[in-house]
Amino acid sequence: MTQVKAFFNAGQYYLAMITPPPFDADLLRRYDRPGPRYTSYPTAPQFSGQFSETNLLEVIKRSNEDPIPRPLSIYVHVPFCASPCFYCGCNRIITRDEKRGEKYLEDLRKEVAMVAPLFESDREVMQLHFGGGTPNFLSPTQLGEFMRFLLQHFHFSHSENRDISIEIDPRCVKPDDIAALAAMGFNRASLGVQDFDPDVQEAVNRIQSVEETLAVIKACRDSGFKSVNVDLIYGLPKQTLTGFGKTLDTVIEARPDRIAVYSYAHMPQLFKPQRQLDETQLPSAETKLSLLQLAIEKLSQAGYCYIGMDHFALPEDELAIAQERGDLHRNFMGYTTHADSDLIGLGVSSISHIGESFSQNPRDLPSWEATVESGHLPIWRGMNLSEDDVIRADLIQRWMCQGEIDIAKFEERHDIYFNEYFGEDLKKLQSLAEDGLVTLSPTHLKATSRGRLLLRIIAACFDAYLKPSATVLQFSKTI
Ligand code: SF4
Repeated sequence: MTQVKAFFNAGQYYLAMITPPPFDADLLRRYDRPGPRYTSYPTAPQFSGQFSETNLLEVIKRSNEDPIPRPLSIYVHVPFCASPCFYCGCNRIITRDEKRGEKYLEDLRKEVAMVAPLFESDREVMQLHFGGGTPNFLSPTQLGEFMRFLLQHFHFSHSENRDISIEIDPRCVKPDDIAALAAMGFNRASLGVQDFDPDVQEAVNRIQSVEETLAVIKACRDSGFKSVNVDLIYGLPKQTLTGFGKTLDTVIEARPDRIAVYSYAHMPQLFKPQRQLDETQLPSAETKLSLLQLAIEKLSQAGYCYIGMDHFALPEDELAIAQERGDLHRNFMGYTTHADSDLIGLGVSSISHIGESFSQNPRDLPSWEATVESGHLPIWRGMNLSEDDVIRADLIQRWMCQGEIDIAKFEERHDIYFNEYFGEDLKKLQSLAEDGLVTLSPTHLKATSRGRLLLRIIAACFDAYLKPSATVLQFSKTI
């Protein structure tokens, strides 16, 4: 059922059509296969150990020489967490030792001091994101000092479109801390919730009350944050329709601007913490699908727009507006409105995307520390994109954000004949078209409403690296 909603944003009235993606359990069951989430193309498993510090220096130099150099985005990874959630698939270190945070910040400052001077000083930072782990493992004082250091070394934009965001674990933050974060310039927050059901929380070792979570959301609002996101997960042990329904109702009532509803991927062979879960408590495939259906129904009824890949946003949120305008983007931080910036990843395991290259820092803390302390850029692996990679990355990016490709514009941008260039890939689309997920006309390749929940499956038809022999690592939720 489509709802039409009027709202006012940036001096203009907008009309938003809120059309939930139709839920077809048979279809979703048939296409329930692992696959990349395309926060990048090519995906991280394609990066090579051959990519060196020299390669990175070259791409940064080239990016500075662009006639109009791109703005910058910065991602800072904070790997520490105070206690282990058993569903976790992130690169994190469990500790309560605050001194480890101090030592980490010391090395981060060394990395910043090496990286920042490589970029022309007039290149503006439009986006900064702290992810983890648990960024608020660091105290407000530590975060404040590090923010000041970043501000001294990079040229931050003063535009009101500048985003400074942080992932917050509500279990270890006080409302006063939020005011301190706002004073440092943070204006977006993302809160991990997953499920408020006490049985689920006990099964996944993450006890987090409704009250402390709502208090953090309120504190963000009171402190003037532009946007609050809440993360939920479906498919966790002991989850039921009743319990998850209550969680959804509670979250909807708090009215965060964005809500992500992730599917839990149980891969204990890859993620050690998951071995602590009792597999017999996992919901059946049927229940898992019903949990997703419940989330889509409740969020759509509450007026949230489906953005794509597990993400929902209020129609007046910038993500929904950018999608409507056709300039939504996707990078390692997920969906974003910051088009075409160069991404600098700082800290252990973080990924940079500069010009037409990707590079990743070492995933283990000792290697990252040792390289930074030896005065070298900490590169573990990376790649320079080929011409074909660039063309496919553009297609997959547009597809994941808009669910639609304007063929004439795409041909013009890349100087190709679409049907000829993607002849083999379009053959792979045939069965998806027969299932009513996608249509190909002479002018447009378009996801149908049935196909909107399966964008990544359709995108995979254009992934030149996906071979039948692809390893399971290529399908990991975290890459
Ligand atoms: S889910 Fe988040 S808070 Fe929990 S252990 Fe993993 S990174 Fe840390």
